[in-house]
Amino acid sequence: MSGPRPVRAPRGTELSALGWQQEAALRMLQNNLDPEVAEHPDKLVVYGGTGKAARDWRSFDAMVRTLRTLKQDETMLVQSGRPVGVMQTHEWAPRVLIANSNLVGDWANWEEFRRLEALGLTMYGQMTAGSWIYIGTQGILQGTYETFAAVAAKKFNGTLAGTITLTAGLGGMGGAQPLAVTMNDGVAICIDCDPRAIERRIEHKYLDVKADSLEHALQLAVEARDARRPLSIGLLGNAADLLPRMLAESAPIDIVTDQTSAHDPLAYLPVGVEFDEMASYAAKDPAGFTTRARESMARHVEAMVGFMDAGAEVFDYGNSIRGEAQLAGYDRAFAFPGFVPAYIRPLFCEGKGPFRWAALSGEASDIHKTDKAILDLFPENESLHRWIKMAGERVHFQGLPARICWLGYGERDRAGERFNDMVASGELQAPLAIGRDHLDCGSVASPYRETEAMLDGSDAIADWPLLNAMVNVASGASWVSLHHGGGVGMGRSIHAGQVTVADGTPLAGEKVRRVLTNDPGMGVIRHVDAGYDGAESVAADRGVRIPMREG
Ligand code: NAD
Repeated sequence: MSGPRPVRAPRGTELSALGWQQEAALRMLQNNLDPEVAEHPDKLVVYGGTGKAARDWRSFDAMVRTLRTLKQDETMLVQSGRPVGVMQTHEWAPRVLIANSNLVGDWANWEEFRRLEALGLTMYGQMTAGSWIYIGTQGILQGTYETFAAVAAKKFNGTLAGTITLTAGLGGMGGAQPLAVTMNDGVAICIDCDPRAIERRIEHKYLDVKADSLEHALQLAVEARDARRPLSIGLLGNAADLLPRMLAESAPIDIVTDQTSAHDPLAYLPVGVEFDEMASYAAKDPAGFTTRARESMARHVEAMVGFMDAGAEVFDYGNSIRGEAQLAGYDRAFAFPGFVPAYIRPLFCEGKGPFRWAALSGEASDIHKTDKAILDLFPENESLHRWIKMAGERVHFQGLPARICWLGYGERDRAGERFNDMVASGELQAPLAIGRDHLDCGSVASPYRETEAMLDGSDAIADWPLLNAMVNVASGASWVSLHHGGGVGMGRSIHAGQVTVADGTPLAGEKVRRVLTNDPGMGVIRHVDAGYDGAESVAADRGVRIPMREG
């Protein structure tokens, strides 16, 4: 009988698979479940509430076994975390093709998903959990850092010094918030109902201190704000209870957002339920729990709107909390915007997004060498330099050493080719797995998040992520994934991912060049099609062909 056990990817250059492309998939699958990386590895849950790397332990074992024997011209097919076939393909084809959590439109809701999940027929893949390129909290840190920097630029003269941010959720993704705020010189109060989440972020140095009470948190925050000293403060409690209290007491909050697992009502703690009883209550009475969680989210969002009315900068951080609050009958849920239209879309128009890579050697020195290569490649990009320097000093690696930075069209391919050359020359000790989040410029349809308020109203058009997945298959990615429901929950998103392995061979160099050009290219063409001028100029300047603009 196979069951929970500690999983850790092997390090070094000894292969247990037949080639580095397969070995990379194997190590990244295992790395997603490394206790340093995953939120609940015993349940195969990587992050984001219930985002899993494999459907069950038997499926995990079968994938490991299959990847170890998979040939260079074979492809393993994964259906919602379970390997269902091996097909003969060719060496340019991906070694793994993954489809996770997909449901036909009219059936695409949590109720039907849970029914099928209980039958053992599907699993929730989130974005990078089921596609094996989650790299711990660092992955989201860069995006969160960029977002808070954009808030600072928009409202606070380019710095968060002298401001207090209020947020909740210190889980796998939300745990990046305190450090992203302090990296922008601000003060953050971060609420979580799970004491372990607070302790873990302090341990990883993403969070500075824990407050004893709400009063203590506010006192610490005000002192630090007045001294223009960056500080992040963890506060234990329920956000749906604490936010309304803070609003009623006119707490001096400048920025409000949230990263509780609101996309999944069974992962949001309702007011009046003890944290320790949450899991058993959700399992026993999912419908009753959902109703209570949504009611609490409505209170939580109502307080956020209250802070907005009082003059704070308020935004939804991509967890669907507005949608859930609306379902509970709160009619001003969408009074504040999502973070993509508010801050990120101009970057998407340039094909920019969360480019990341992991060192399969397990050596931190490999990442430090790639950091230097990135700085050398893009000497003119100041914010990139600031990020790489701060990441080098402050980011604690979880699992295989990895790095993320946002690069655009015409940049990712240059970085990828340089990395492949570094593997070929022996400068790096082993190959790199180069991938990205599904939250990218041209890989997702998600009307409450990445495609909210598109200029031409095309928010819900889901052809783009399907084209993105097909383009990456056609371009030579090592594994390609197509998921439903990541980030914002069932029925609300369709998204694709790719990972391409730079193993130092000329063939990998060719694949890396094509994939890392075409993948961000999807972002440029998607935004040209929607009518964004910024994307039009990138396409014109950098030679992205748009048939409807030719002839
Ligand atoms: P997670 O499940 O690891 O963490 C969620 C945390 O929220 C937990 O620590 C939990 O204890 C806490 N929580 C739940 N209910 C609470 C309540 N009522 N009060 C206080 N704390 C509460 O999830 P995660 O991976 O951190 O993701 C958080 C959310 O952010 C998800 O909805 C995810 O889809 C979304 N997300 C956003 C982005 C983005 O780019 N903005 C990216 C990925 C995910």
